[in-house]
Parts: sequence; structure tokens; C-alpha cells
Amino acid sequence: MGSKQKTIIHVDLDAFFVSVEELLNPSLRGKPVVVGGDPSGRGVVSAASYAIRKFGVHSGMPAAEARRLCPKAIFLRGSHHIYSRYSRQVMEILGRFTPSVEQVSVDEAYLDLTGCERLHNAGPVEIAQRIHHAIRSETGLSASIGVGSGRLIAKIAANAAKPNGMMWINPGREAAFLAPLPIGRMPGVGPVSQREYMKLGIRKIGDLLRFDPDLLRQVFGKHGAIMAQRARGEDGDRMERLADDERRAKPQSVSREVTYSTDTDDPERIRATISYLAESVGRRVRKAGLVFDTVTLKLRRASFTTATRSRALSRACDATPVIYQTACGLLEPLLAGNRERVRLVGVGVRAMEKKPEQMDLFRREQIARMDAVHRGMDLARDMYGFESALMARSILHGRG
Ligand SMILES: [Mg+2]
Repeated sequence: MGSKQKTIIHVDLDAFFVSVEELLNPSLRGKPVVVGGDPSGRGVVSAASYAIRKFGVHSGMPAAEARRLCPKAIFLRGSHHIYSRYSRQVMEILGRFTPSVEQVSVDEAYLDLTGCERLHNAGPVEIAQRIHHAIRSETGLSASIGVGSGRLIAKIAANAAKPNGMMWINPGREAAFLAPLPIGRMPGVGPVSQREYMKLGIRKIGDLLRFDPDLLRQVFGKHGAIMAQRARGEDGDRMERLADDERRAKPQSVSREVTYSTDTDDPERIRATISYLAESVGRRVRKAGLVFDTVTLKLRRASFTTATRSRALSRACDATPVIYQTACGLLEPLLAGNRERVRLVGVGVRAMEKKPEQMDLFRREQIARMDAVHRGMDLARDMYGFESALMARSILHGRG
């Protein structure tokens, strides 16, 4: 945790596209207005006025459904260059309060006010009020503002304050503020993940606190561990990038390779090496709370020609036996097609963060049973080092 207290403000314009349309045409005010889609029912709603939200209409919904829910809906095509103009104007206003403005979408930004109080001769709440007032008086738009010790808290507070409100979460009160909120209020928890959490009886953010963080990590991967941290109100710098994890982590490659001291054409020895490398890669994947969806095998021959083969899996997982079996499957045709001795063997996977949507508890149970041995070995290795536990076939790798 950071030593100095941070002050983060999240500014989120209310029903932004619709509000701009209302400014351009005040007769739309209070009407069931939708931007995006058309009255014939094609396209998708990209913004909905508060008046039409009462009918259950929301952004991302097919226009046809919006029309069904509210037959009197007024569909507007939207004028995105005008929205951008307003957006720029708002961001300019924000920039007057602090140089550290991070715009995260057309109508949302984070401001880091840490240490700015003296500059403004005002506390964070007063600064937030000034921002709110400036946006209103200079653009006519209404914004909701959250103030907190981190981005996550500020964002959730702004959401809770909507529309046209302000909320300040006192430092130290983060967990208490979050506890009664539905789990779906947590950024990054969509309807699918929500169902997975429900299966464990987690309905409110505070319910996360009843679970051992290690268990949450096991069931939901890195995502679960982060949610547990957030529920405790921890929102440090390390997590800032994850605060808006609608954008998912990019896949990364986890791989290991071994060069033989003398080249070999013994398939048993190569398979033993693959087993050894699979254990090492599998362990790193699990330790990072990742899953993989592709396995790659690399063979370099005595003549330094290198062949690489990959196979995509039907489902992402984190099990060592899957790496071993898949890599051995890739090995067979390579050996059959070329008798030249092998100098180097590499095994890799394409790994990414586990999404809760990927979770299928039944499937996990199956893998867990098959893979229980490897997880037990991970534990031993945590205590005694990687080579303290190896599958028998990997031990062959070390011989000769
Ligand atoms: Mg907004």
C-alpha cells in the first residue's frame, strides 16, 4: 500500500450523447430518447435518456428491443463530431484543475488531485464541487463525480452518485462503502461473472470478504484475487491498470527451452525433456494465475535449422499434462519427417488472464483431479525449489 494518501476524482458525464442532443434541441428534454439504432429496429442503442431507462432500455441493447419496451422511443442517429467537441471542452475544463487528467472514454476521466489541495486552497470535495459547477455552467452538461483514495473507489462512487451527484468516500471507509453494493457494481464483473459469483453465494461485494483469497484465486484466477483485494478497499497503484478491466490482458508467451550438451536422436530422451519443460511452464502459468490456450513445441537440429509447431486447444486450462501431451503430439510428425539429431527443445504456451466467463466449475473439477499431483508438486517447490519434485519421466531428462 502506498504511504501517502491519494486523492482521485472520477468524472463521468450523465447520459452524455443524449444530454448533448437535449442541449441542441431542448424539446427533447425528459423524453424517451435513444441515440443509435433506428426506428425500423436496426442497429444498437448507444445511449439512452434517463426517461427511457425507466422502461428498461439501456445502451448496448438492440434497437428492436428498445422499441418493443418503449414504443414511443425517439431514435436519433447521433452526431459524433459534435459529441467530440463537447468532450474536448469538458477535458479542457478538467485540465485546469490538475495536469494529471487521464481520459478513459469520450465522457469519463480520472483526475489525480494528490497534493493539489494547497494549490487550490480547498479540500477534495470543494474541488469536486468546483469541477461540477464549471462543467455545468460552461457546457450545460451534467456530470457525476466520485472522490476517493483510488480509481476504483472514485469510479464506483461516481456511479453511485448518478445522475448529477457527487460522492466522497472517506479514506479508511472504502470497504464499508463497498460491502453492501451488489457484486455487479464492481468494474469488470459482467452478467456472466456475476452468475459465477452467485454460485458461491457472493451477491454483494462484502460477501467476498468471507472467502479465503486463495480459494477465490483458485476458482476465479487472478480476477478473483483482485476482486478480494478490491473488496477490502485496496486500490493501489499496482491495480490501477486493472481498474477498468473491460479491456482484457493481452496474451503472453510463457516458454522454456533446453540445449543438450550432446545432440540426441533418442525420442525417449526428447520426451523426457518435454516432460521436464512442461512441468516448468505449467508451474509458471499456475503461479501467475494464468491459463493457456495454445501449446508450442520447438526443435532445433544439429544443423541449426529450427522447426516450431503449435496447436490450439479447444479450451483454455492450466494443467501440466495438457502441455506434455499436446507437445508430444506435435513431436511425432517432426521426428518422423527428419532423422537429424536434435540440439535444442523448447516448450511454450500462449497464456492469458483467466476470465471468469471461462470458468466452468465442472470442467475445473475434472482437470483438478487429473492435475492434483502437479498442484501438490507446486506446493513442494514453493518450499524446496523446482527440482524438489519432478515426474518420473522428467527425471530421465536429467540423465545422460
Ligand atoms: Mg457517462
